[in-house]
Amino acid sequence: MAPRKNSALEGVLGRLDDLDPTNLTILVQRLARERHLLETVFNTIREGILVINRDGVIEYANNAGFRLLGINAKSAEKLILWKLVPDLQRSLNFDGDIPEQAHTGMAREVSISYPEPKVLRIYLVAFHEENHSNIVHERFAVILTDITEQKTHTQKQIESERVESILQLSAGVAHELGNPLNSLTIHLQLMERSLAKSESDDMTRKMEKSLSICRREVERLDGIIKHFLEAVRPNPPDFSDVDLFMILEEAMELVGPEMADAGLTVDVEMDSSLPIISGDQNQLKQVFYNILKNAREATPRGGDIRIRTRSDDEFIYLLVADTGEGIEPEDLANVFQPYFTTKKSGNGLGMMVVQRIMRDHGGQVGIDSKPGVGSVVTLQFPQKHRRVRMLEGGEEQIS
Ligand code: ADP
Ligand code: MG
Repeated sequence: MAPRKNSALEGVLGRLDDLDPTNLTILVQRLARERHLLETVFNTIREGILVINRDGVIEYANNAGFRLLGINAKSAEKLILWKLVPDLQRSLNFDGDIPEQAHTGMAREVSISYPEPKVLRIYLVAFHEENHSNIVHERFAVILTDITEQKTHTQKQIESERVESILQLSAGVAHELGNPLNSLTIHLQLMERSLAKSESDDMTRKMEKSLSICRREVERLDGIIKHFLEAVRPNPPDFSDVDLFMILEEAMELVGPEMADAGLTVDVEMDSSLPIISGDQNQLKQVFYNILKNAREATPRGGDIRIRTRSDDEFIYLLVADTGEGIEPEDLANVFQPYFTTKKSGNGLGMMVVQRIMRDHGGQVGIDSKPGVGSVVTLQFPQKHRRVRMLEGGEEQIS
């Protein structure tokens, strides 16, 4: 395991026969220290490092190598890489003569299912070692990198880009629907007026009724489109100093009565010196409204909704906790996805809007939940001084 070119060491090794016991001890100690250092370094590396021969027999593996392949470091068995990673031998063309590329390096991506499903990048390169009788041994260094996360991240990115483009497309369609709806409204109004002028008989009354139904339905469509457009194309925030407590109160005016009807107790404890932040009043009201509405919908009669604040040097946190049904672990990651809903009449846009607005405010939203126990939504706002500092920096650059 000692480095091949260590001239001082090699010099001493050359004179091994001349060394007295004291120097020999020093030498052995030095070799042991060096070996220990190298082993520590190799075992600290996150990549798996193996040395194999042409038959795939593993002659050395660092800790990560053992871990990634799910093998026991203490196992006395002869371990063969080709058996641990099926198909690798064929994919590297190692089933016949050693391929030419093995001398410059070859890389493959493989999926393994043991010890757990993972995607590994496997890099193999040949190295030669001469032994004392100058016989060249051909061995191979194999580097294993766990790229599972990177792969899923790319997958997620592709997915969110796809969602984004679908949203844009549908926003375009929704916007286009506005004009025909306007025109429908105007013509329905005209028809209503003409009817009002004509004599009232059974026929006109029936038509009046149908017309008013049409008007209501057109209004409903208009409402759906407006909400949809708000959800997918929010305006940039119009920043001013806002008091989170006041915004919470305004949102409570909308959901409070429903909560009282549902027999829920709302308990608010906010630090009065805290909650001034820089934000868009209307958008933040929307954030609180969406979160409180979800909490209400999730919580059965007699439950509690608790609202708390905390802060540190960088952020102000606002927590909304409910004692509702909670979210299954496999659903937790989907809560912010557009159109994800577990409700019969849900639209699955509420939390996506919350996330978008929070990001536009330089903040974040998180949700934590235990099925059957409840959920906690955490809003994280940057402290005002952080934003001011950013703005001051900008102004200095201009002048
Ligand atoms: P919607 O309310 O229309 O379903 P949202 O985007 O507001 O859409 O929420 C998405 C989903 O997240 C909900 O359908 C629900 O399953 C889950 N969810 C959000 N907040 C809570 C909560 N406080 N308790 C339990 N589930 C929640
Ligand atoms: Mg909702």
